[in-house]
Amino acid sequence: MSQGEPLVVAAGLRKTYPIFGGTLVKRRTGTVHAVDDVSFVIRRGETLGLVGESGCGKSTTGRLVMRLIEPDAGSIRFDRVELTTLGRRRRNEGRRRLQLMFQDPSSAFNPRMRVGRIVSEPMRLAGATGKAQRDRVAELLPLVGLAAEQAERFPHQFSGGQRQRIGIARALALRPELIVCDEPVAALDVSVQAQVVNLLQDLQDQFGLTYLFISHDLRVVRHISDRVAVMYLGRIVELAPTAELYGSPQHPYTRMLLDAVPKTRPGGARAGSRAAGEASLAPAAGRQGCLFAPRCPHVMPRCREEVPAFREAAPGHVAACHLLG
Ligand code: SF4
Repeated sequence: MSQGEPLVVAAGLRKTYPIFGGTLVKRRTGTVHAVDDVSFVIRRGETLGLVGESGCGKSTTGRLVMRLIEPDAGSIRFDRVELTTLGRRRRNEGRRRLQLMFQDPSSAFNPRMRVGRIVSEPMRLAGATGKAQRDRVAELLPLVGLAAEQAERFPHQFSGGQRQRIGIARALALRPELIVCDEPVAALDVSVQAQVVNLLQDLQDQFGLTYLFISHDLRVVRHISDRVAVMYLGRIVELAPTAELYGSPQHPYTRMLLDAVPKTRPGGARAGSRAAGEASLAPAAGRQGCLFAPRCPHVMPRCREEVPAFREAAPGHVAACHLLG
């Protein structure tokens, strides 16, 4: 997989949600920091894996990149254009360049729509002619391993893996440059997971696609990613080239996740598994210092007071932990 110039540059992203409590009168009782000062770069043609336990903010990060939700702070540049200040018209114009793939594509499919219509819908919304839509569907279905004639069928006539292929075809319809893949194989059997991941890699090679690949499954992420970012409670705690991260993890949380891998059933380590421990998005109170301190076997007094800064462990390998200096 080639790696080119930066396509996405996210800097200081923050997203919070209010917590409401009370029995008779609902009132705001706190704040959830879903994404807290997150920065990363995705180079053109690469796959950046984003892993972490369930609820760590990785899907929120993907939605911020897609501009499906607005950040409270921070910036996202896509191909040098700042997305957070774009007006609606320019945002819609640029939307075709970024697409999202879901864990369960069928939830986004209208069950009464034929597959051809589902795949071509983004083109229809973008104003393409009927002929252009039909031609593109006939091109796309074979590209994802389906027959062009299957355009006439309905989603329920396909297996889970085939439905994910339909989701991929739909994501490709407008020839995007970046695809945010949010747990795209989590609902599939292991053998089908491998087929879909291989298909994503083939399409990347063929069309120079760039992926943000969000998953709790460390084995899948290792297979597809050029670099991996590890998220914990809304913050990135380690980011490194894939071989470096798996071969020489620096952050105690990354090590904990990797230690859990052999203990899990085939299909990968669930970053949200009991072996890795449970995380929940901590409210505003208690976000001083290192957020991993309550679970860290190496915790020091300094860890509870001082947010660890990123330090470079090797070229391109950074981790936020006081153990590094
Ligand atoms: Fe553990 Fe301290 Fe490093 Fe946090 S900063 S991971 S508590 S050693």
